[in-house]
Amino acid sequence: RAKDEGPGRSTIFDTSMHTQVRERIELEVALRAALADDQLYVAYQPIVRLETGVPVGAEALVRWLHPERGLIPPMTFIPIAEDAGLIGSIGTWVRKEALRQLGVWRSEGIVGDDFYLSINVSPRQLSDPELPLIVSGEMLRYGVPAQCVALEMTESVMVDGSSVTSRVLFELRELGVKLLVDDFGTGFSALGYLRRFPVTGVKIDRSFVTGLGVNVEDDEIVRAVVAMSHALGLSVIAEGVETPLQREALHAVGVVNGQGWLWGAAVPAPEFAERWRRAAITQAAAVPAIAANP
Ligand code: C2E
Ligand code: MG
Ligand code: MG
Ligand code: MG
Repeated sequence: RAKDEGPGRSTIFDTSMHTQVRERIELEVALRAALADDQLYVAYQPIVRLETGVPVGAEALVRWLHPERGLIPPMTFIPIAEDAGLIGSIGTWVRKEALRQLGVWRSEGIVGDDFYLSINVSPRQLSDPELPLIVSGEMLRYGVPAQCVALEMTESVMVDGSSVTSRVLFELRELGVKLLVDDFGTGFSALGYLRRFPVTGVKIDRSFVTGLGVNVEDDEIVRAVVAMSHALGLSVIAEGVETPLQREALHAVGVVNGQGWLWGAAVPAPEFAERWRRAAITQAAAVPAIAANP
């Protein structure tokens, strides 16, 4: 106990804990207001074929633009949303907004049936038995076929998930939605869940991509992940690709798709659509790769 460790230490401990708790409560209160006040938006990052740079889809990533503090990263507010019981409403908002946007892009002819949108879902969302019905209703409403939708979840969903979560995953898969394991390789979990759950692909965590072409162990880990995934019929996407060297190394070990700053960071919908148009023009001109993000 802090009390037993002397008055000085106790004061410092209490002060810093107090600050942290206050910061958290402040953010929680602000986050409740953020949804109502339109401070959240969705940014889109292209997912491309490594070999050509041709885009195949995008990942929807939530952004919080706080009126005074500016942009607050999801790594800061998603955990707070989870603890505060807000992840359900935030997740619902992000999913609806992303599907609505995809519907608009499709109806405007900006993207076609070969474009998919990948949406992050938290464990809490996947424990809602109503989720498959809700998602199928939203897809219908926005004119989005299930093949054009992927849901990203962490390994923990399948490792710790209840039987309800399991049923939700099977029902979502039944709809035709892709199911991707996000941050693959960071969970240190037994891989058996890949066979037990209707997963369609894995996203290799950025931490393994960083050392590619430099660190032989990372090359070998990624090579093994690719071999296993292909043997199980799973797709592989590399995340956090920043350099041409990493791209080459990924291509060399058989990874087909990737995303990362090499091709562009996540940007708001209008900017994404503009880039997408330009990429289509570039493709038509048979220039193999879209320009890297400046
Ligand atoms: P994630 O799903 O693994 O998303 C990838 C993260 O890597 C994103 O961070 C993206 O901006 C970042 N990134 C992409 N390319 C590069 C690169 O080349 N280099 C580096 N260093 N980073 C890159 P972001 O947007 O800050 O999101 C962080 C995490 O927050 C996400 O990781 C995801 O777990 C969570 N998140 C974001 N949006 C949502 C959401 O709508 N719902 C839920 N439940 N979680 C979300
Ligand atoms: Mg993700
Ligand atoms: Mg990821
Ligand atoms: Mg990640």
